[in-house]
Amino acid sequence: MEELVVTTDHTSYPVFIGEGIRHQCSSLLYDILKERSKVLIITDETVAELYADDVVRSVSNALSAGVCKVPSGETSKSMDVYHKVMTACIQEGLDRQSIIIALGGGVIGDLAGFAAATYMRGIPFIQMPTTLLAQDSSVGGKTGINHELGKNLIGAFHQPAAVLYDTETLHTLPDKEWRSGFAEMIKHAYIKDPEFLTWLKENVHSLEDIKDSQLLRFLKRSIAIKAEIVKEDEKESGVRAFLNFGHTLGHAVEKESGYGGMTHGEAVAAGMIFAMKVSNRLGYSKWDVTQEAEWLKALGYPIEAPSQYSSHQLIEVMKNDKKASKGNITFVLLEKPGSPFLETVDERTLAHILEETKE
Ligand code: NAD
Ligand code: ZN
Repeated sequence: MEELVVTTDHTSYPVFIGEGIRHQCSSLLYDILKERSKVLIITDETVAELYADDVVRSVSNALSAGVCKVPSGETSKSMDVYHKVMTACIQEGLDRQSIIIALGGGVIGDLAGFAAATYMRGIPFIQMPTTLLAQDSSVGGKTGINHELGKNLIGAFHQPAAVLYDTETLHTLPDKEWRSGFAEMIKHAYIKDPEFLTWLKENVHSLEDIKDSQLLRFLKRSIAIKAEIVKEDEKESGVRAFLNFGHTLGHAVEKESGYGGMTHGEAVAAGMIFAMKVSNRLGYSKWDVTQEAEWLKALGYPIEAPSQYSSHQLIEVMKNDKKASKGNITFVLLEKPGSPFLETVDERTLAHILEETKE
C-alpha cells in the first residue's frame, strides 16, 4: 500500500492507495469513523452492484451504514439527483455527527462531496474513488453539480477527511474509462513534471501499458502532483487554474456532445493538443504538435474537436464557461513541459486554428 498526505491551509488528510483496501475501511479509517454516529455510502448503480456490499461490511465493524444509489453517469450531477440525495440523508437520519462515503468515479465524488458540503451546513466525507479519473477528482476538495446552462456551475470547496483508493476496483473499469482517466494523468505530467512526462512517453504506448504493474507507482506520482498544486492554491486563485490545461476546448466539446459522445478525458486530450497549437501560434512555444498528437493518438485519443461542431459553436460555448470572464476566453498555455501560464486568447485566433484543424 502507498500512503501520502494532502495538506491545505485549513486541513490535512491521508490518501491510501492499494489493492483490495476497500476491505480495510474500519482499520484504515478508524480515527475518523470512531467519532461518527452513522455513515451513508453514496454510490451509483454500476458501482453499487460491484462493491457496495464490501464497503458496507467493511465499515459496519465501526458503525451503522446506509446506502444511497443514484443512476450511473454524468446526468446524476443534477439538481434533481442532488435533491434525492438530500432526501436520503434526511430519511436515513444523518445528523451533524454523521459522515458520507463517496464510492464511485468523479461523478459520485463531486455529487456526494457537494451533498456533504451542504447537508446541515456541512458534514465530513470520505472519497473512495473507483475510476482512474477519480485519482484526480478525489483529491483537492472541489465538489459540485451541473446546471443545464453549464458544467460544475453549482458547487463548494469541501476537502475530504480521507481518500481510500482501492486499485482492485479498477479491474472492472471499461477500457474507455481507463483512457478517460489516463488523460488527466498525462495532464498532470505536462503541467508540473517533465521527468514524469518523459517516463510516460517512453513506457506507455497502449492501454495495456497503463494497466500494468507500475500503476500504483504512477498513480501515487500523479496524486502527489495534484496534492502539491492544491497545497499551493486551495481555492484556485493562482496555480490551481493550471489544472484546466486542455479543459477550455475540452469542456466545450463535452457540452456540445451532450456529455455522451466523448468521455471527459478524451475531450481533454483533444483540448491539450489544441492548447499547444494556440501556444505556438501566439509565439510562446515551439511544440512539435504532430509528435505530441501521435503519442496521444496511439493511445486511442481523439486529437481534435469532432468536425460536426462549427468553430463558431465551440467558441460560443467557451465564452459561456464559468472560467471565462467578461466573455474573454482564457487558456492554460504551455511554454514547455512544466511551464504553464494563463493567457486570454481572442476569438479570431481561436477560430483560425479550429478551422485549420478541419482542413
Ligand atoms: P463516472 O463517475 O461517471 O464514472 C464513469 C463510469 O464508470 C460510470 O458509468 C460508472 O458507473 C462506471 N464505473 C465507476 N467505477 C467503476 C468500476 N470500478 N468498475 C466498473 N465501472 C465503474 O465518471 P469519471 O470519469 O470517474 O468522472 C467524471 C467526472 O469527474 C466529471 O463530472 C468531471 O467534471 C469530474 N471531475 C471532477 C474533478 C474535481 O476536481 N472535482 C476533477 C476532474 C473531473
Ligand atoms: Zn478534468
